[in-house]
Amino acid sequence: MTEIIYAPMREKYLEHNHKDTKCPFCNYNRRQEYLVQEGNTCAIIANKYPYLYGHLLVIPKRHITDILDLNKDEDKDLMLLTKRAIKMLKKAFHPDGFDVGYQTKMGGGTLDHIHFHIVPRYKGDTGFMTIMENANIISEKPEIMVQKLRKKNNLF
Ligand SMILES: [Zn+2]
Repeated sequence: MTEIIYAPMREKYLEHNHKDTKCPFCNYNRRQEYLVQEGNTCAIIANKYPYLYGHLLVIPKRHITDILDLNKDEDKDLMLLTKRAIKMLKKAFHPDGFDVGYQTKMGGGTLDHIHFHIVPRYKGDTGFMTIMENANIISEKPEIMVQKLRKKNNLF
């Protein structure tokens, strides 16, 4: 006979559809000014704490903490929205390139809910402030950047 050990603390790891009320990415649509565009299973939002101007995030709508837990629809949506975000940023701000990727908590990421960074790069963006102070100067609030991005891509 198999022994059954009940471990209620593991329930949250089994249930990936749970909505973490404290997680800002589960509540991505609460602050509309950061929302760039929604897909079926994922969304493009502005990073509230941008590394550089135009820094966007693509997130799955479900609270997923491991890239391996993305389902096929999310895989597809994630790449589709990543490409769409790059296209929109190119059209709006003409960056010279992009850094695209994701971090786990171990890699220095601060949030459980996986999120893919799309950071537009501009020639000379690693300037004096970045090197001396490990800080970037962002000339505009992300909310304003989102307005411009949406306007230039006819999303209103
Ligand atoms: Zn979440």
